[in-house]
Amino acid sequence: MIKRRQVHLDFHTNGSLPVGKSFSKAQFQNTLKAGHVNSITVFSKCHHGWSYHPTKIGDMHPELDFDLLGAQLEACKEIGVNAPVYISAGFDEKEYDKHPEWRLLHSMDENDLLEYHNETHFHLLCFNTGYLDFLCAQIEEVMERYNPCGIFLDIVSPRVCLCPQCVADMKESGLDINNEDHRKIFADKVLKKYIDATNSAVRKHSDTATIFHNGGHISKGNYDFIECNTHLELESLPTGGWGYDHFPLSAAYVRSLKNTDFLGMTGKFHHSWGEFGGFKHPNALIYETSLSIANGAGCSIGDQMHPLSELNPATYKLIGKAYSLVEQKEPWLDGAVNVADIGVLSAESLTGNHNEKADIGANRLLLENNCLYNFLDGTMDFSPFKLIILPDIEICDDKIIDKIKCYVHNGGKIIASGKALVKNGEFFLDTGAVFKGKNEFEPTYLVPCYETVNGITEYVMRCDSFKTEAVDCKEVAFMQNPYFNRTREQFCSHMHAPNNPDKNLPGAFIKGNVAYMGWDVFSAYAKHGHLCFKELFTHILKTMVGDELTVNADIPDRAVVTFTRQEEKKRHILHLLFAHTTVRSERTEVIEDTVPLYNVKCCVKTQEKPSKVILVPTCEEIDFSYAGGKVEFTVPEVNIHQMIAIED
Ligand SMILES: [Zn+2]
Repeated sequence: MIKRRQVHLDFHTNGSLPVGKSFSKAQFQNTLKAGHVNSITVFSKCHHGWSYHPTKIGDMHPELDFDLLGAQLEACKEIGVNAPVYISAGFDEKEYDKHPEWRLLHSMDENDLLEYHNETHFHLLCFNTGYLDFLCAQIEEVMERYNPCGIFLDIVSPRVCLCPQCVADMKESGLDINNEDHRKIFADKVLKKYIDATNSAVRKHSDTATIFHNGGHISKGNYDFIECNTHLELESLPTGGWGYDHFPLSAAYVRSLKNTDFLGMTGKFHHSWGEFGGFKHPNALIYETSLSIANGAGCSIGDQMHPLSELNPATYKLIGKAYSLVEQKEPWLDGAVNVADIGVLSAESLTGNHNEKADIGANRLLLENNCLYNFLDGTMDFSPFKLIILPDIEICDDKIIDKIKCYVHNGGKIIASGKALVKNGEFFLDTGAVFKGKNEFEPTYLVPCYETVNGITEYVMRCDSFKTEAVDCKEVAFMQNPYFNRTREQFCSHMHAPNNPDKNLPGAFIKGNVAYMGWDVFSAYAKHGHLCFKELFTHILKTMVGDELTVNADIPDRAVVTFTRQEEKKRHILHLLFAHTTVRSERTEVIEDTVPLYNVKCCVKTQEKPSKVILVPTCEEIDFSYAGGKVEFTVPEVNIHQMIAIED
């Protein structure tokens, strides 16, 4: 089982700095203990290209005069801490300078390349050159010298390259270097070559070493990449550009993969990697690690060691505040499997776009409705879910369409939007309406047939919309067009034209098990966040599956609710999380002060009356009632994270 209290110890160190002068085995060990750390990724070779141990292949850091990696590995072994080894793969600044023929060339324009070359950052190398052999030799050397428990390779993703070798090979395989798609096909081919070579370099020396190729994102549905790893590490520093909702979305997909251990990787920094002297508030780290374990992941916290090689005591005091709590909670995490009512067919798995707004919007809407959900790709089983959401994007794969038809035929429920139910210009499920194509107006207006906080009126919908003709469906909301689209020739006031109330068109409707919204609701929610999008989705969600949802917690939209089953221990675990973020800088949301929630009422569906309901990890029993297949109880306080065990 994956270690849940990991540190990813960055150590990218310029060749002129003193390295290792303050390393002490005792200090290293004592600091890790203070941080309650049970695994730490330590460096063989950094992005600068320096090795932190004697090497016949690369070059040891010029200011290092002993085997730092060996000493760290020995220190870890003595105190029972795992220590996978980091090897920089995509970057190696030293070799970039030494071997112009190994450089990745992203363009054929000399000026573009010169500009990139002169920028102050690490520069990429091409895996389709002699660099790959050099890298594999470094991996083999580490395996031979240290036989570590794992190898972490960084930073790896398919990259278009126009170096002479790539251009020659593309031409030889009949690919057109001027064709964007052909370049991507070749980039995937080079990545596969890299993966095969590096995995073989590890496996030649160990059957058991873990292998992870980090690319900063797990691509949904990309099994070539997913399956080349022994486990997954979800790099997602909420303050480092990923935001607080990236991890729940990524985790909701990864936990749908069978038998895949995974980590949620955050950082101790105020912002992101490389930030010496950057610290977040302990409450933020407690929240982020709690979010990992509530989503079925282990935890990894990013740190960067000072070149002198003493672990920073303040950092490990901070980490210890989070990890001591994770440690206390571990008996309720072992073997726990997340329960989900709702499956979302990932838009990214259909388009390949890493930043697919339809997924981001669907994830937020489900988080804010405190739902239990997983993200899926088209190869996965839809049948365990009470509801499948198809957000905005057209599905081109007939096998997936057949699977959806079969799911509905067997009683499954669907909420779809935009073009998600459209094939060859027609709905492929019976929606009770006829699809009439894209609406030429944007924005449009929504007139709800349900109560909203601001009442029944016209709400602006700033997204693409679709025309339909109702036949025998139940209307949920109507659509009105504006008088005209805003153009140079014809515009009104500062923004869009007002609604034309003459005509109510179908907007959203339900027939049997299928609900359809004629707007790109999910992408638009990610982009604009209008309340009316959420009210529409929430109304349809409650109408479709309101009575069937496993958990109902009386908790704010910002809270996160997850639910797991520990089959061996014969219990369910309810996780309630709540912390608010505050904007403290141009680009960073932080968590500092927390506001506890008191007396949170929860209602959970269980097949039998539970024997006990217990607050975890304090093991304090609380009162509950049981009727009609539902257990009801009140959680006295949720301060960042509260677990509740419901024993069979
Ligand atoms: Zn190349």
